[in-house]
Amino acid sequence: MGLIVQKFGGSSVANTERVMNVARIVTDTYKKGNDVVVVVSAQGDTTDDLIAKAKEISHHNSKREMDMLMAAGEQISIALLAMAIEELGCPAISLLGWQAGFRTDSVYSAARIKKVETDRIKTELDNRKIVVVAGFQGLNKYQDMTTLGRGGSDTSAVAIAAALNADRCQIFTDVDGVYTADPRKVKGARRLQEITYDEMLELATLGAQVLNNRSVEMAKKYNVELEVISSLNPIPGTIVKETTKMEKMLVRGVTKDKDVSKISIVGVEDVPGIAFKVFSQLAKNNINVDIILQSVGRDNTKDIVFTVSMANEEEAVECIKALPFIGDAKVFSDNTVAKVSVVGAGMETHPGTASKMFEALYGKGINIQTISTSEIKISVLIDEKDADKAVSAVHEAFFGND
Ligand code: ASP
Ligand code: MG
Repeated sequence: MGLIVQKFGGSSVANTERVMNVARIVTDTYKKGNDVVVVVSAQGDTTDDLIAKAKEISHHNSKREMDMLMAAGEQISIALLAMAIEELGCPAISLLGWQAGFRTDSVYSAARIKKVETDRIKTELDNRKIVVVAGFQGLNKYQDMTTLGRGGSDTSAVAIAAALNADRCQIFTDVDGVYTADPRKVKGARRLQEITYDEMLELATLGAQVLNNRSVEMAKKYNVELEVISSLNPIPGTIVKETTKMEKMLVRGVTKDKDVSKISIVGVEDVPGIAFKVFSQLAKNNINVDIILQSVGRDNTKDIVFTVSMANEEEAVECIKALPFIGDAKVFSDNTVAKVSVVGAGMETHPGTASKMFEALYGKGINIQTISTSEIKISVLIDEKDADKAVSAVHEAFFGND
């Protein structure tokens, strides 16, 4: 018995049958004597549909109104789920983000949670209610609704679990855990029993779309143990926590990310301060940079290559071209690239990881454009059309294929 936070994503509540399925999971947990707080996303593609409706009006809608609109999606699912729980004979109450005490900063569409004032939730729990909370939304200091950015309801769940000091935070989804690679695409992909926050963070950022990365950051910060679990298949999922007791695996997963654009600055003058000026210009424009590479200088010029997400491609090229020292240097971009990465806390102490990855790519005749490494990951940039083949080959090299 304890306090359990359960989060259900959009696909888990997509239709009436799924809502009833969720109600059964929630009421089973409640009937075992637990206090239960449920966080839900909007049903199925609701958020996308709302955004599409807004775009029919304008592509420049105010972010405040976009948040007002998008927050409506979760309002539907909390009410329906509360009704479904009551239908199964348990007491429930639905709360919008602001009613549940979510206070955020004022950045519409990408708000950060400042705190969760838990009085209302606690009162409802004391009355033995199952509390159903709208994920993804909160209230700012102007008493306006905000949303946390796409996929934000994972973060709502972790924030509630942290604020209530919950015994467990379960993230229910349509996959049954975190895999070593996308199980729909890669033969032999395995489900992990446990994974560390840092590894999960790398996987989340690198495009394994199981958990939103801000939710993992928050879970790490407040030490909230997460369980990623299927809402359709009742088997134990993957636990995300600080350290795993299992033997350190060399590599925990292989991912690909196609949302990458490679920007090249070729033949810029080889003098001090160029990198500083390029990257501070990008930072000023709020453009996040990932892999960075600078060539050895020759004939007083050098090349700088870096990657940004595709949404920032044009703006990045424009703002670099506008720099006074660019002169005759060429600035161009290429978004037909993909980033393939291996992630694992064990690789720090195993020298052969990089060569094993490169050998697997070589074996398939795949050319590596750039390489970058950190303590727990190695990423390469390759031609986008080779991405799936590359992930399978690298996965097989580390995990076999049965
Ligand atoms: N409904 C929101 C979205 O689609 C939040 C979420 O699903 O986590 O992004
Ligand atoms: Mg999600």
